[in-house]
Amino acid sequence: MLLLDGKKLSEKRLSALKKEVEEHYEKTKTRPGLAVIRIGDNPASKVYVGKKVKACHDVGIHSVEVLFPESVSEEKVLTEVEKLNRDPAINGILIQLPIPKHLSEKVLMERMNPKKDVDGFHPLNRGKFLAGDDALIPCTPLGIMNLLKEYKIEIKGKSALVIGRSLIVGRPMSLLLDQAGATVTVAHSQTKNLEELCERADIIVVAIGKPHFLSSQKIKAGAVIIDVGINRLESGKLVGDVDFEKYKSIASAITPVPGGVGPMTICSLLENTWKSFLNTQ
Ligand code: NAD
Repeated sequence: MLLLDGKKLSEKRLSALKKEVEEHYEKTKTRPGLAVIRIGDNPASKVYVGKKVKACHDVGIHSVEVLFPESVSEEKVLTEVEKLNRDPAINGILIQLPIPKHLSEKVLMERMNPKKDVDGFHPLNRGKFLAGDDALIPCTPLGIMNLLKEYKIEIKGKSALVIGRSLIVGRPMSLLLDQAGATVTVAHSQTKNLEELCERADIIVVAIGKPHFLSSQKIKAGAVIIDVGINRLESGKLVGDVDFEKYKSIASAITPVPGGVGPMTICSLLENTWKSFLNTQ
């Protein structure tokens, strides 16, 4: 079994990025800048944003964290988004999800300058991505594609199953696999024949947010499993959506949790920030 080591690959890619950022800085005295807006006190968001800011620091990307209380008005956040849209030192803007219910994700994302939309959530980026044009692509599925590429996992002609269809992970993941030549099936909470779909798939991506959701289903011997889930158990232990121990000897390749998809997501965020920076030079 091949362990798809996202931690190792992200370190390799980020060290190459750091070199590029430094070389660019030597020549131009300019650096990319990422702004992260965090609203409320969600402890997981605090951890994720902390990791993103630290990664920026390590690579030499300027970063700012903008904090708002849970009760902040939409108007206030929009004013901040517009300020960041105009700020020449910032070329990537990210609003950490989830946001409080009284705020509209759609309204906030649409107000963002699409060129600075490093999460790839603006409708313009979504449209371009759908059409197969160059766009900023959501970080988690982009990171997964880079991981599959690094480990030379064949996608063309394969049968891929994506479990989960969120706009952040499942949907863009299915589109990327489709664009890479796989025949893709998307399963979700209304799917009736998941067992059968699991048995047929060459590549299975699980992104639903339920600890060890994939544990009893039969899979094809030699299938590739990508576990996107990050679930914290009451004991404090972090587990994925896949029972790693159960499948490690059946799968030909599998991602661990932690150390699989998570680090690749952060890596893609920084790479998208770099891409936005170069696009605006
Ligand atoms: P979400 O809640 O927005 O979407 C979950 C999806 O799972 C939905 O489409 C739903 O239909 C589907 N689903 C729910 N129950 C199902 C079932 N029984 N059978 C089939 N499908 C079912 O979640 P999300 O934002 O896509 O995140 C999913 C998981 O991935 C979470 O654990 C999240 O923490 C994790 N995540 C990890 C990273 C990373 O970098 N590793 C990034 C984003 C999200």
